[in-house]
Amino acid sequence: MDIHEYQAKEILAKFGVPVPRGGLANSPEQAAYRARELGGKAWVVKAQVHAGGRGAAGGVKLCRSVDEVQTFAAGLFGKLLVTKQTDANGKGVYRLWVEGASEIAQEIYLGFVLDRKSERIMIVASAQGGMEIEDLAENAPDSLRRMTIDPAVGLSEFQARELAFSLGLKGGQIAQMVSILRACYRAYRDLDAVMVEINPLVITGTGDLVALDAKMSFDTNALFRRPEVAELRDRSQEDPRESTAGDHGLAYVGLDGDIGCIINGAGLAMATMDMIKLAGGEPANFLDIGGGASPERVVRAFRTVLADANVSVILVNIFAGINRCDWVAEGVVQAYREVGLTLPVVVRLAGTNVEGGKRIIQASGLPLISADTLAEAAAAAVAARPRNAA
Ligand code: GDP
Ligand code: MN
Repeated sequence: MDIHEYQAKEILAKFGVPVPRGGLANSPEQAAYRARELGGKAWVVKAQVHAGGRGAAGGVKLCRSVDEVQTFAAGLFGKLLVTKQTDANGKGVYRLWVEGASEIAQEIYLGFVLDRKSERIMIVASAQGGMEIEDLAENAPDSLRRMTIDPAVGLSEFQARELAFSLGLKGGQIAQMVSILRACYRAYRDLDAVMVEINPLVITGTGDLVALDAKMSFDTNALFRRPEVAELRDRSQEDPRESTAGDHGLAYVGLDGDIGCIINGAGLAMATMDMIKLAGGEPANFLDIGGGASPERVVRAFRTVLADANVSVILVNIFAGINRCDWVAEGVVQAYREVGLTLPVVVRLAGTNVEGGKRIIQASGLPLISADTLAEAAAAAVAARPRNAA
């Protein structure tokens, strides 16, 4: 789960990371009020969306008067901001963060990620941070410093100092960097984060380190024990298809193809998507209906998949262990009638009560396409697409 920049800054500040003073605004008038309240001569107005690359996309602006703050804010509110990190639809801007502008002498990149190879939290840092960090990672990957943290020891002072030196920091900046690194590590570990990123971490005109941007992402499976994190969720930033499915206990990920998938088990879902591709098709989604799927759940799964207008055929693939094929078959028949389906539906059932399941499908008299193996099901789904039939 992602959170907004201002929320990440608030969390990191609690752990001891220095951040600029700022305030949240829900309207252009409030943005102007925040600027006046903060005082000073220059402010940065920042769209709060769950995506980076806002600067290059016109979502961040340095303003030199309160009027400018209000005008820029008025132009942003309610807009869909499209950045390098969003899809073509962009993300809605409903909150703005206004902060006192900082003078920037240097921009540093600092990230904490989970390194699956070493099974450890890894720090990635660069003395050349800022908006071009992705180009740098691509063209000069050696300029990035990487360091893994031993979970039994934690981030040691010595490691943090070594990293600070390698970034060319001097004097008092070393101690500041050590403190920032340790604070980020604690925040990451204590809150079950999967990513903490500060880009840029700047050296200001007075030589101090300040986090000008912050991004945090959390392990969804750990949210049950982090209620203070869970409540930071902002549904306006989510793919509505995915959040609605999640509410119904379905694991759904929207994709770009047109073959809607209803499958039980994440592994089988992945395998089915592979088979669809092998057969020359494109899956419209990943959907795991889980074990013990009742007919009602299957109906919900159909509704979820059909909410995607690109779907032109549905492939149901159930390998019933905990599940029962006759239950799933009842769900398919029920869904077909309730939802008023007109699209072709390919059904492949295997496992517990498979004979009962097949009987229900046949007895229904509905135009369902049956398949015995996964390969047959994938081929049948590809063949059933309207554009293939034409
Ligand atoms: P992102 O593009 O979504 O990563 O948004 P950032 O928060 O990183 O802002 C983009 C860029 O705006 C930064 O890389 C800075 O160069 C610039 N910026 C942000 N805050 C300030 C500030 O207080 N002063 C100045 N001069 N520039 C800023
Ligand atoms: Mn940034």
